[in-house]
Amino acid sequence: MTRLLVTCEHGGNRIPAQYRTLFKKYRAALESHRGYDAGALAVARDLSRAFDAELVYSTTSRLLVELNRSLNHRQLLSDATRELPPAARERLLQRHYWPYRNRVEAQVTASIKDGERVLHVSSHSFTPRLNGVVRNADIGLLYDARRARERAFCRVWQARMETANPQLVVRLNYPYRGSADGLTTHLRRLHPNSDYAGIEIEVNQKHALGDTAAWTTLRKLLVETLQQALTAS
Ligand SMILES: [Zn+2]
Repeated sequence: MTRLLVTCEHGGNRIPAQYRTLFKKYRAALESHRGYDAGALAVARDLSRAFDAELVYSTTSRLLVELNRSLNHRQLLSDATRELPPAARERLLQRHYWPYRNRVEAQVTASIKDGERVLHVSSHSFTPRLNGVVRNADIGLLYDARRARERAFCRVWQARMETANPQLVVRLNYPYRGSADGLTTHLRRLHPNSDYAGIEIEVNQKHALGDTAAWTTLRKLLVETLQQALTAS
């Protein structure tokens, strides 16, 4: 049996009251793609609901602490929080980083202990234009090319999406590589290919921020094609 786990690390741009003074200069950043992944939580909720899957999500901004980075990554903290004194930094991690990371880790471990294989779908979105360059995909599926199950699953899901809507451009390991530092990469180190497959779905934010009906239709397509890919795998 495969157990689906859905997570959303960048689901919101909330800053807890005690940290708000640090963000006076960063209001615009918080509202932008730098602060959160527009639409990612809506996708995560739809997937979780459709498959009755556990959902772990955060509505706290990635500019407070980046849940999709390892402890030692230089982007764990942002310009707003990097200069916190060591004790305050430690409190921030204890309150806003470890509970999330540990909860996801515990979910994966518990499912594997139950004899199930985990398919972890981490929901993200990307800005349509970065540094003047237009990104030419609607959806990206990120995986580690060394993990056979992830690779196979992403290819099937991609094919089902493109069949469902031939206009849709779905690219693999775009706009980022799935093997870069992140939550799925961390979990791959803990669990072998046979037990754990971690995939990040990246949706172009032009869909989340565009026409509401078209956005609903696209989210429905994601649910339906994930169902097809799960049946096929
Ligand atoms: Zn993200």
